[in-house]
Amino acid sequence: MEGARFTKVEVHRGDLRWPLPKDFIQRLERQVVTGIGRRAKYLLADLSSGDVLIMHLGMSGSFHVFFKHDSKALGRYYHERSKHTAHDHVVFHMSSGAIVTFNDPRRFGSMKIVPRAKLDSEPLLNGLGPEPLGNEFDADVLAHACRGKKTSLKAALLDQRVVAGLGNIYVCEALHRARLSPKRVAATLAMRSGAPHERAERLVEGIKAVLTDAVKDGGSSLRDHRLTDGGLGMFQHHFLVYDRAGEPCRTPGCTGTIKRIVQSGRSTFYCPTCQK
Ligand SMILES: [Zn+2]
Repeated sequence: MEGARFTKVEVHRGDLRWPLPKDFIQRLERQVVTGIGRRAKYLLADLSSGDVLIMHLGMSGSFHVFFKHDSKALGRYYHERSKHTAHDHVVFHMSSGAIVTFNDPRRFGSMKIVPRAKLDSEPLLNGLGPEPLGNEFDADVLAHACRGKKTSLKAALLDQRVVAGLGNIYVCEALHRARLSPKRVAATLAMRSGAPHERAERLVEGIKAVLTDAVKDGGSSLRDHRLTDGGLGMFQHHFLVYDRAGEPCRTPGCTGTIKRIVQSGRSTFYCPTCQK
């Protein structure tokens, strides 16, 4: 898509998580994609008009790419589930010859177009915390965000206003690496003065390390996640706690057993022996 023009946009179903804007097709056709980016779990395509197309995969959305010269040739992205063309809701025909299709059986995915100049005040994005792998995310920022918070560390890290884009698996794994209990009160990341406690340093380190390792492995393919070539992510083979209830803790010297509890309706996995 990058550098290519939208030659034709088809909308088969516009009622995704929320309805597509009425002028959706009009604002895309003839525009060139000048850049592709990401913020938290939102995909961003900058357009030559100054608009930004915001896209979110929701629970079950995926894009697949075919090339016009051979409609059977797979592009660089393919997803097994997207063979059910009844769920092809939006189709982008690009001047590069690529046909980019958004497929989403459950329709929790979404798209929205906003002017780049108004992106900072866009409600979908403006409450988001820092990117966990960005330089702006450090112990100071995390401790400040958690100061006075009576919720658990697990809930705090899943809160996208504290840090953006962390999901259930990586929160469990990061807390384990930091040797912090998911039940610990979030406020204990800050000292009375507001300065970061040493726990905040450990946790930031744990978050950055687990994400860096997972990205290297292509993510975790439990059910649906696929690489752009259709292959599987491999990080699920390196989980230390996630989905390991009843199994021995892998921390060197720890004789604990991984336990599963439920916090705010989601499974948490941790070692009660070495995570305090
Ligand atoms: Zn342990």
